[in-house]
Amino acid sequence: MNRHDFKITASEWEVMRTVWAQGQVTSRMIIEVLQRKKEWGAATIKTFIGRLVKKGMLTTEKEGKKFLYSATIGEDEFIRKTLDEIFENICDKDNGRTIAALIEKSLLSHEDIDRLERMLEMKKKEAVEEVPCSCTPGQCRCEVS
Ligand SMILES: [Zn+2]
Repeated sequence: MNRHDFKITASEWEVMRTVWAQGQVTSRMIIEVLQRKKEWGAATIKTFIGRLVKKGMLTTEKEGKKFLYSATIGEDEFIRKTLDEIFENICDKDNGRTIAALIEKSLLSHEDIDRLERMLEMKKKEAVEEVPCSCTPGQCRCEVS
């Protein structure tokens, strides 16, 4: 059963963030948090929760009269999978530029920068002259130029 459907909407992501931050939660707790940020009715939020259960992203457990929801995948793992999917869909030649764009728009701590610098030093040792394109012909502009 535990096959995840990682395609979630922006609204469902809002719900997941709440569950990831709180651990086990009732729908009421989710609604309370999300209504600080969004003008969503309780029924709408419950619909999102229901979809996430269907997608296998949330599980329910009954405790007395209440249903408790918890995430079936950790936030870090989810973010990694989402990023992997994005990078699978861009030409390998564009990886560097895409990563640079992410760095450019991020506010970073000195610690973050130290970690990136160490990583880049390691990457330097295995750097290639030119990253080969691994795209299906017709799906990127590498051949055109
Ligand atoms: Zn390509």
